[in-house]
Amino acid sequence: MIIDCVFCEIVAGNIPSSLVYSDDMVMAFMDINPVNMGHALVIPLKHFVELSDMDEATGMRLFQVTMRVQKAIRASGVPCEGVNLFLADGEAAFQEVFHVHMHIFPRFKGDDFKISADWSKQPPRSELDEVAAKIRGAYTEPRNS
Ligand code: ZN
Repeated sequence: MIIDCVFCEIVAGNIPSSLVYSDDMVMAFMDINPVNMGHALVIPLKHFVELSDMDEATGMRLFQVTMRVQKAIRASGVPCEGVNLFLADGEAAFQEVFHVHMHIFPRFKGDDFKISADWSKQPPRSELDEVAAKIRGAYTEPRNS
């Protein structure tokens, strides 16, 4: 099956990337449209569309390498006083490439990065409890881990 996926093409070496790290599960490279210089992506080598499709071992490796790459960005001399991690899962969440990927955004005072979200809402505790109960009810752990 041929998957039309830019990240699979990068994994296969058919599209060039500015590589930061790779192993047998994940790779990290520079985003070609960096929000700030040093903006990196960490992806699983295997094609998973969404987080829910990905096995936890790969997810753990993805986050482990994300932690190490952000540390490397901070130590590299690239302007970086802070870091935002961003993973868009699903079209409604602005996922544009449907192959799981973690963004690492280096941040510094005065950069032009913005997140437009309303964090001023304060629903009553009863509503939070109700939502927590729904999510708790749906929470599952994989059978074979
Ligand atoms: Zn892919």
